[in-house]
Amino acid sequence: MLSGDFTSDNRPFGPDQALAAFAGLAEADGAFQARHIGPAGHDVETMLRSVGADSLETLAAQTLPADIRLDGAMGIGPGWSETEVLARLSAIAARNTVMTSLIGQGYYGTVLPAVIQRNVLENPAWYTAYTPYQPEISQGRLEALLNFQTMVTELTGLDIANASLLDEATAAAEAMALAHRVAKSGSTRFFVDEDCHPQTIAVLKTRAEPMGFSIVVGNAAKDLRAADVFGALVQYPGSSGRVADPRAVIGALHEAGAIAVMAADPLALTLLVSPGELGADIAIGSTQRFGVPMGYGGPHAAYMAVRDAYKRSMPGRLVGVSVDSAGQPAYRLALQTREQHIRREKATSNICTAQVLLAVIAGLYATYHGPEGLRAIARRVHGLTVTLAAGLRALGVAVVDQAFFDTLSIEAGDDAPDLLARARTLGLNLRDAGKGRLGISLDETTTPETVRAVWSVFCADAARVRAVALELAAPASALPDVLVRQSAFMKQAIFNSLRSETDMLRYLRRLSDKDLALDRTMIPLGSCTMKLNATVEMLPITWPGFSNLHPYAPADQAAGYRILIADLERWLCQISGYDAVSFQPNSGAQGEYAGLLAIRAYHHARGEGGRTVCLIPASAHGTNPASAQMAGMKVVVVRCDAQGNIDLADMREKVQAHAAELAAVMITYPSTHGVFEENMRLVCDLVHEAGGQVYVDGANMNAQVGLARPADYGGDVSHFNLHKTFCIPHGGGGPGMGPIGVRAHLAPYLPGNPQETDAAMVVSAAPFGSASILPISWAYIRLMGDAGLARATQVAILNANYIATRLGQAYPVLYRGAQGRVAHECILDLRPIKDATGVTVDDIAKRLVDFGFHAPTVSFPVAGTLMVEPTESENLAELDRFCNAMLAIREEVRAIERGDVEVEHSVLRHAPHTGEALTVTAWARPYTRQQACFPPGVRADAKYWPPVGRIDNAYGDRNLICSCPDMGAWAEQG
Ligand SMILES: *Cc1c(COP(=O)(O)O)cnc(C)c1O
Repeated sequence: MLSGDFTSDNRPFGPDQALAAFAGLAEADGAFQARHIGPAGHDVETMLRSVGADSLETLAAQTLPADIRLDGAMGIGPGWSETEVLARLSAIAARNTVMTSLIGQGYYGTVLPAVIQRNVLENPAWYTAYTPYQPEISQGRLEALLNFQTMVTELTGLDIANASLLDEATAAAEAMALAHRVAKSGSTRFFVDEDCHPQTIAVLKTRAEPMGFSIVVGNAAKDLRAADVFGALVQYPGSSGRVADPRAVIGALHEAGAIAVMAADPLALTLLVSPGELGADIAIGSTQRFGVPMGYGGPHAAYMAVRDAYKRSMPGRLVGVSVDSAGQPAYRLALQTREQHIRREKATSNICTAQVLLAVIAGLYATYHGPEGLRAIARRVHGLTVTLAAGLRALGVAVVDQAFFDTLSIEAGDDAPDLLARARTLGLNLRDAGKGRLGISLDETTTPETVRAVWSVFCADAARVRAVALELAAPASALPDVLVRQSAFMKQAIFNSLRSETDMLRYLRRLSDKDLALDRTMIPLGSCTMKLNATVEMLPITWPGFSNLHPYAPADQAAGYRILIADLERWLCQISGYDAVSFQPNSGAQGEYAGLLAIRAYHHARGEGGRTVCLIPASAHGTNPASAQMAGMKVVVVRCDAQGNIDLADMREKVQAHAAELAAVMITYPSTHGVFEENMRLVCDLVHEAGGQVYVDGANMNAQVGLARPADYGGDVSHFNLHKTFCIPHGGGGPGMGPIGVRAHLAPYLPGNPQETDAAMVVSAAPFGSASILPISWAYIRLMGDAGLARATQVAILNANYIATRLGQAYPVLYRGAQGRVAHECILDLRPIKDATGVTVDDIAKRLVDFGFHAPTVSFPVAGTLMVEPTESENLAELDRFCNAMLAIREEVRAIERGDVEVEHSVLRHAPHTGEALTVTAWARPYTRQQACFPPGVRADAKYWPPVGRIDNAYGDRNLICSCPDMGAWAEQG
């Protein structure tokens, strides 16, 4: 079905050689490359001179060990022009067939308000922001996330909600793990009601097995023996659409000391008694239908809400309210000690990148509609569903349930295949629920026309359909009386004050103006690769041909996606050397988990199930040990030597000591120390000889694309953070995509189809994870081509070495490679400064805000250091602006060294400085106001003013508030 011309190695324009040279609106080869890569040719020369290398190639040769270098091109071909790329992507999108989806099963049509689409989803101020670890420059997105959390607690009736999880199915799995941590029961069994979504059951089974849990699927009302389980999950409304009262089930669970988890639809909760009121301990679900397009599976934000007692065990990021240095309320991430980057294998979860941008959108959707607007949408959907059911019954169709919200289950028997086919001829997709059952879900986009069309699926006689329709009574409710919600929700001012588009527009602008994102400054975060997310790469994701497909739409309707995914798989294999790729993982951490499960399954299949030890160097990202633990492996830490390299002697010793039980080693390469270790091949060989597998954490692919390939030097499996190296924007902490590449022997153990509850391994709800953001990485690779990708890597290395050279005198560079080079990032050691002056790494990070910069990565992987990763996208002027700021700060430190100023009173300790703090009448600091807000290089016409002073984290954790405070404060500001 996919014709040859759709292999996107061939350019779309012309076989005509003479004219083909003029294709793409007169853009020369490499035109995009020059826009993506910051330093122009002459700047590259200047920088090479500065670092003491005569060419980019020499620098690369001094940086990467010779025995890992790739010789030759990857085979991706030349870079295309922006015009060509858009033309090809639009042809690919046109191969997808967008039908009216009535499949439901967790994914619904929705209307993204245009004011939110244009000003958030399509606005780089929002989508290029980083995770709000530096809260002073993140107040806007933190406020939006607090709105999201408040919306979730209000709808669910529970005490505290996190700032999103990856999808509903993984949220259910996180809830299961949480339930086990807090349940009083000693059981290892978890009960799952059979009316949960099949993809949820599939993910739960995958997650349960390595943790030593067993999943019991059955009818909760009949089969649950509460004393035998540590918890249970019921879906509300059920996957079939049925609305049942879970109170008896919850009561029985509580009596036995077990935990009650509900998967609840947020739109239904506007009309139904909330999980909290029903007694549930944990609620999870998807907020997709709050304005986020289906996107062939994602990205969407899942939510989790819990009772107050469980907040310290809850996975994911949590936004809370604290105070700043002036005692004013300010937002920041709360209870971070729960997270994987601190707790490692003891963390509550491996989740790192979540779905922040989508949570922001869902929260804003609810903010814009308000409680009454949401109820109106829910009532309309419900009314149409009641009418649909009445008409179907009048036509003699067997509608199974009396109590439902928006979804009907139809007993169609042997007619099911014909009815599904007939629906498709009318442009409708119904759900094939198996065993002769059909599902029909209505949503916000459903019109009376849709309802008539469904009737005519079941009755070809148009006159009869019309007659039935005319006789129908006005719809009554099909919600059971005992489940009709009486309690109010979302009474906070923020949900009741933004009804006009003018107000909404200004609110969005006010929030984004508080934040620093890539549209204002470089964000030199080591390990995070905050590079250009080009506008042309972003355009296609909101095209209906990509955004309006249901993930379980029939395969022939997704032909365009299959082309896109096949292209990307081929290219990622060419880039990495692997043989196959799975696009199911929704983040790097999920990729790690999926990759380790593949390794585990491989060992099991060979009768070596006793291989459970995972060696992880001390320098690893926190997700590595957390993922290994989830995959049922025992983490053994390998030391690093004084140069930051893996301690070979320790590695040898541990490989030997654990040879019989060695499952894998997880290595980040180049290391999180920003260095290409010389011994990578040796380490891989050691592990292979002992029968282990090599997991190469591919988060640092930006240092090797086009120069080296993990599979060539010993990797068996890697994840690729498409949201780092491959240009998916960070979104303030998600979305992401963490596809994994594997060598052929692991390919049989890649994730399976989420719709099959007995699939061996399923890590996400959707077959291709967050498919709708794949066009971004597709566009990037196609625009750059072989030469552009390799040059990007070389310039990323040049930029990092330039910074190491300019700053190395003032701040020692902690680790360098064998020939004195750093890779694509470098660690600046601030500990000597702290010892000599008391100035902390935080003081310097916050002082950078006064200069208008987002701080580099703080205290990872080494406490008391900054890790700087400039990426190839920053040009010489911006690199110099950053270096000059760091050098000016060094001079401020020197004043303390000299004894001119005490650290407590210094400009560093009081940073960042707000306009308010600077305009007090009695200025009593030992530095001038000028020095505070206009240090060297900061111009008045480009000044970033932080909205809050330094935030007191400890105060916020002692006085935990994680939902909107008295929003009277907001009204005054507004
Ligand atoms: C970013 C990162 C990860 C985790 O990726 P997420 O997408 O945030 O889950 C893992 N390892 C390293 C080295 C990273 O930099």
